[in-house]
Amino acid sequence: MNWNDAARQVRWNIQPFIDGRYKPSSAQELADDLNPASETMLCRFAVGSALDVDEAVRVARQRFDEGCWSGLPPGRRAATLMRLADLMVEHKEELALLDALEVGKPISAALFDVERFAADRLRSWAGFADKLVGASAPMVSATMSLNVYEPRGVVGAIIPWNFPTVNAVYKLGPALAAGNTVVLKPSELSPSSALKLAELAVEAGVPAGVLNVVPGLGATVGAALASHPDVDFLSFTGSTVTGRKIMELSARSSGKPLLLECGGKSPQVVFGDVDNLDSVADATVQSVLYNQGQVCSARTRLIVEQAIKEALLEKVVRRAREYKPGDPLDEATTFGPLASPAQRNRVKGYIEQGLKDGARAVLQGKVQETGGCYVEPTVFDRVGSHMSIAREEIFGPVLCVQQFKTESEAIALANGTEYGLEATVWTRDMGRARRLAHAIRAGEIAIRTSGAEGPASGCLLSYEPRKASGFGSELGIGGLESYSCLKAVHLSGA
Ligand code: NAD
Repeated sequence: MNWNDAARQVRWNIQPFIDGRYKPSSAQELADDLNPASETMLCRFAVGSALDVDEAVRVARQRFDEGCWSGLPPGRRAATLMRLADLMVEHKEELALLDALEVGKPISAALFDVERFAADRLRSWAGFADKLVGASAPMVSATMSLNVYEPRGVVGAIIPWNFPTVNAVYKLGPALAAGNTVVLKPSELSPSSALKLAELAVEAGVPAGVLNVVPGLGATVGAALASHPDVDFLSFTGSTVTGRKIMELSARSSGKPLLLECGGKSPQVVFGDVDNLDSVADATVQSVLYNQGQVCSARTRLIVEQAIKEALLEKVVRRAREYKPGDPLDEATTFGPLASPAQRNRVKGYIEQGLKDGARAVLQGKVQETGGCYVEPTVFDRVGSHMSIAREEIFGPVLCVQQFKTESEAIALANGTEYGLEATVWTRDMGRARRLAHAIRAGEIAIRTSGAEGPASGCLLSYEPRKASGFGSELGIGGLESYSCLKAVHLSGA
């Protein structure tokens, strides 16, 4: 496929998709849609408005109350979402290209995201649609008490830009499978694939108005959705700072319940008993540099036992040095630009701060200042726990290395940030593995001994982030539970 030709043929159409069709936004002001690989403009689009949100919520409410989706047998919803997953795969080039152009995602990775990540997970949630069963209490005299799951109603969903198609599916998958209607706000950096998904949903048979997408800025569309009184549940993925704003907006309006998937600063703890440092180095570099480090669960803190630190660091640096940023539309590229000039500047700021604070850059990547948001990998050794590079989410290709001598020191370092999303522990000692799995405050923990990680079946399991990383679960059947309400029904009568 000639991706450059395909890119020239994209017809940009960024406007609200409500009730199964595109409608112009009521906003006059425009925002730029930028290609971060060249810092050139792809198109301009309306910043969106509270009126757009009102309209989308009104339609979503009407469709919910009509029961055209919530009232279907769950198996029918499942079949429709399976069709949507198939359509995503049929349109994978288009979806992947939109993500590659808007956020600089390497095209090969973007194709993988659509097919193996987004479509597969959508099938997984669809498969749970008819398996969410309630409970019944022991029968007492003439009363029968049942617990039934009901969809929450109108779900507002706000998502970031780091995996545009995947992030959208992570919201609409469990929300629609559970029978809700949805108003989705994609990131202003990457609105196009979510709009395409909404078109495909209608083609798959999701009734018009069940999935609506309102593009626009966080301060306009996002805030309007978070504070809308007729949104029954708000699901947010993004930074912890914005997550806290969402809590305030919700509290000040209707007090709607929330699901928050926020930032991370995940540790990779390596004990000296691992027998294959090459596996650890491969996994470390892959975790930190995948998607240019713009991954919430990236293991950006390498916490390593002193005795093996130098040997491991040498292997990590050798591998990281090989990552050279390339054109996202070249299928051979595995490492592209950061998603925006703001993201580039943020990462650059953290690198400068790390140097100022006294961390030692054993690898310091170049930062391209204009004509493309390219940032090469940086590895910091001798990182103190007080430094901002150790505590704050950088969301770029920067690894911080810290060392420990004892298990309790390792645990303290792993737990030493406000985040609690994910963690990896490398050890062959299963007693220690169990102790750390318990002691590390994170929603998901991988224990590894050696070799490559097997294919992930983890998406079938639910987990909740800890601390500032958020709350509520999305994956597995727990995702459908999050988007449902339990009701107790007591039946009595002669
Ligand atoms: P962000 O918080 O800046 O924006 C996220 C979304 O919120 C965007 O759609 C944005 O427009 C919207 N928004 C911004 N201000 C708002 C406001 N005042 N009211 C309502 N909505 C508002 O985050 P980002 O830069 O787009 O994404 C990066 C962040 O996302 C990182 O912190 C990363 O860890 C996090 N993330 C978390 C997960 C997870 O599963 N925990 C997954 C992916 C990304």
